[in-house]
Amino acid sequence: MPTSPFTVADALAWACTQGLDRLDGHLLLSHLLERPRTWLLAHSDTELDAATRSRFEHTCLRRAQGEPLAYIVGEKEFFGLALQVSPAVLVPRPDTETLVQWALSTLAEQPVTSAAVPTVLDLGTGSGAIALAIAHAHPAAQVTAVDASEAALAIAQTNARALGLTLRFALGSWFAPVAGQRFDLIVSNPPYIAEGDPHLPALQFEPRQALTAGPDGLDDLRQIIAQAPAHLSAGGWLLLEHGYDQAVAVTQLLHEQGFEQVSTHFDLGEQPRCTGGKFTKTCPG
Ligand code: GLN
Repeated sequence: MPTSPFTVADALAWACTQGLDRLDGHLLLSHLLERPRTWLLAHSDTELDAATRSRFEHTCLRRAQGEPLAYIVGEKEFFGLALQVSPAVLVPRPDTETLVQWALSTLAEQPVTSAAVPTVLDLGTGSGAIALAIAHAHPAAQVTAVDASEAALAIAQTNARALGLTLRFALGSWFAPVAGQRFDLIVSNPPYIAEGDPHLPALQFEPRQALTAGPDGLDDLRQIIAQAPAHLSAGGWLLLEHGYDQAVAVTQLLHEQGFEQVSTHFDLGEQPRCTGGKFTKTCPG
């Protein structure tokens, strides 16, 4: 019995019936066919063969069950860079670009005449998003990326190779792999969600160890802030991403450790998303 033709337009319409956004349907089909989105729009009458149809339906069902699109297609754009991602790493969020922009502006303040190479440390690098974005935008910086997950670090290294960027990578928890070293800038998007947070089920596909940090979500931020002074050069900056309701707590923690010029930056959704400060003293290492 001949089956009725199933076109590009039929596939995109079917995706919507499964509850997918129009954009997600387009991105999934475009990825599967290895064609740009514009091709889909110009070829809506093109017929898909049975195997392609079945693969498309399968990926749509994964998406409909809440799996991030980035895991299904294996990649996510961040700060203009195409990054490989897997369930071993958090999907890079546009909100985190706020942290990168702030980091780049602190690096830009470095005197142009300075012969010193600025050193940057990214704690809990995951896919490498922050570290790679900084290294790409500020090639003079020497960037070290740390993660406690071997699988995450492997993804970050793959991304660095694909982008032709040279970074240092170190496996371990927070400052453990950089003992005795100091940096001009330390950045981190650590886990900061409270263990009982009602948003967690929506994030079930992402690595739990990259998301939660104790009963109030501040366990890792506290640890990083307490240990940062011993790893900052005089005048170095610590910039941290945090939850929308944690700016006051992070500001207080930074003040308690002696940070100055503490301020908060807002994300695209106008939420207080990053707080940081400058450490003008030199703390014994
Ligand atoms: N911003 C992420 C979210 O709320 C969480 C990232 C993190 O814990 N560092 O979805």
